[in-house]
Amino acid sequence: MDHFMYQNGSLYAEDVPVTDIAARVGTPFYLYSTATLLRHYKLFDEALAGMDHLVCYAMKAASNQAILMTLAQAGAGMDVVSMGEYLRARAAGVPGDKIVFSGVGKTAEEIRTALEGGIRQFNLESEPEMVALNAVAKSMGKVAPVTIRVNPDVDAKTHAKIATGKSENKFGIPISRAREVYRQAAEMEAIEVVGIDVHIGSQLTDLAPFELAYTKVAELTAILRADGHDIRRLDLGGGLGIPYERSNSAPPLPLDYGAMIQRTVGHLGCEIEIEPGRLIAGNAGIMVARVIYVKSGEGRDFLIIDGAMNDLIRPAMYDAHHDIIPVIEPTPGTEQHPYDIVGPVCESGDTFAKQRSMVPLFAGDLIAFRSAGAYGAVMASEYNTRPLIPEVLVNGDQFAVIRPRPTFDEMINRDTIPEWL
Ligand SMILES: *Cc1c(COP(=O)(O)O)cnc(C)c1O
Repeated sequence: MDHFMYQNGSLYAEDVPVTDIAARVGTPFYLYSTATLLRHYKLFDEALAGMDHLVCYAMKAASNQAILMTLAQAGAGMDVVSMGEYLRARAAGVPGDKIVFSGVGKTAEEIRTALEGGIRQFNLESEPEMVALNAVAKSMGKVAPVTIRVNPDVDAKTHAKIATGKSENKFGIPISRAREVYRQAAEMEAIEVVGIDVHIGSQLTDLAPFELAYTKVAELTAILRADGHDIRRLDLGGGLGIPYERSNSAPPLPLDYGAMIQRTVGHLGCEIEIEPGRLIAGNAGIMVARVIYVKSGEGRDFLIIDGAMNDLIRPAMYDAHHDIIPVIEPTPGTEQHPYDIVGPVCESGDTFAKQRSMVPLFAGDLIAFRSAGAYGAVMASEYNTRPLIPEVLVNGDQFAVIRPRPTFDEMINRDTIPEWL
């Protein structure tokens, strides 16, 4: 459920007409709903209510400071994967003891920054990283709390580019080597093992792969405890999918996910962490664009819009589907027409949808890409020297630009000219 709905014949974000925002901000732009962000966070928080838990928002999904503050003020922790994200989380007011640090390539500088500023735990992904962490922590006279990310060799049955839990993926250590690596970790003086971490992929639309992975984590917990390790925390990762196609998909609900967690690992008495990103931000954001031209090709019509692959790369990168709707509500019964919906960038990959049935649209019409809140703005680039598009946040009947569109001068002057030119 989200808060982008037709009212009085046009699309609203909460209590604000999208047309008002477009008139003020210009197109294209990202638009987020505070109520939807908070609703999704609370769904997870409530789903784990029976257990000691922390919901750590995977901020790589959408990391604007205003979004982070919205969630942090509701009590969310953060899952960060880089120094930049760590610093963003701290700047948004998240205390270090609510930040977990994931990622396969943490550098010594990143580790030092997190140890200095405070950190709940590092999710270690390899033995060399463990050695590096130990060395940095030791040099600072600190002890670093860690979980070790195990790769349970489970097929997440999702898009190949976002599956992370198979043995051929680069993530974590093979679960078969876990005992050995935990033994090594226990011997390192500047590392304190606090738990186990697992994350098998993104946009999972079925609970079965999670259940398989968590069952393996439960078994591993018993084994590691018998080996003498104090396993008191389980980080179960993120990855719960969202319904990109409203008409024909119904991914699992957070409540059922929480019940499954209770069933698979609840008896262990561990503190539970989860790291949802997409489910919190995905349906909390839309991208609004304007039709520039309607072009009739041979046998097909193109809607050429002012948004492009540099603004929203998911269709080009993951063959992702986004529901696309007109901002002005069509009269019921209006006949639909197939369009290829494309951006102006000089690449065939700059195609958002092929032969998509839409009501007839004309130059100047506004359209909205649903489910664009996660992995949208954060993956945008300035390819073709197109400015990063603004981000706008709605809260009830208020809205604010939370990242302005840069001017062309700002973009050009970011480059510096060598003295020989
Ligand atoms: C990307 C990622 C997440 C978030 O995944 P979503 O599918 O957005 O929920 C959580 N944890 C880790 C380690 C990740 O890499």
